[in-house]
Amino acid sequence: MNDLRVVVVPALVDNYVYLVIDEARRCAAVVDPSDAEPVLVAASRENVRITEIWVTHHHADHTAGIPDLCERARIERVIGSAYDAERRRISLQNEIARPDRPFRFGSHAVRALEVPGHTLGAVAYHVADDLFTGDTLFVAGCGRLFEGTAAQMVDSLRRLRALPDETRVWCGHEYTVANLSFATSLEPSRAALRDALQCALRARAAGQPTVPSTLAFERAYNPFLRFDAPELAAGRDPIATFAALRAAKDRYVPPAL
Ligand code: ZN
Ligand code: FE
Repeated sequence: MNDLRVVVVPALVDNYVYLVIDEARRCAAVVDPSDAEPVLVAASRENVRITEIWVTHHHADHTAGIPDLCERARIERVIGSAYDAERRRISLQNEIARPDRPFRFGSHAVRALEVPGHTLGAVAYHVADDLFTGDTLFVAGCGRLFEGTAAQMVDSLRRLRALPDETRVWCGHEYTVANLSFATSLEPSRAALRDALQCALRARAAGQPTVPSTLAFERAYNPFLRFDAPELAAGRDPIATFAALRAAKDRYVPPAL
């Protein structure tokens, strides 16, 4: 039985904060609070008590709401990576997410996966069929390499890619339209990619988020999980393929859609 429910809380320009609600206890964990106010509004609307904060990485657009939340709710746990804890770069962090030691959230075990690449302290949280990827894996895209190398990111993405098909992907930003536009530019003859782009455009026009995606979708359509697909590799090894894709995306300007 899955008594977890995820509520999407849009924040700042294109960030997603998540409330992970444990229905049995009416408690919620908050993933990546960039801002406290919309999270508190959502929690009161859902009639849940916020008890913990899970941080995927230290960037301000994922952490700036922590002090305010800690002041206005009874937060027992602010968890993030050992790497970020050592550098004291997540405010009020009081727990370390160890990859070898899942932590409890109600009756659930939450597994933290270390996924260096976007930053060196990046983690993804996996609980039941839900995966919170921060800025490591986006719908049809991945984060920029601010601290890590292409080799580290490929290794991180390989581990995320190995999770089950039905895993729901909840990422840190709404970048799906630009990402699918880039993916379509790489493989213009894939009709299913164009359909996915149209579907994302319709969702956005209706004010709907494009999360969650699934790992099955990402494995099929996300170019950054296809670093070993012959169509994209063109004879290069996975790291060289990934690096070339990342560099091309960094330069890519989506056409007006
Ligand atoms: Zn970031
Ligand atoms: Fe971000």
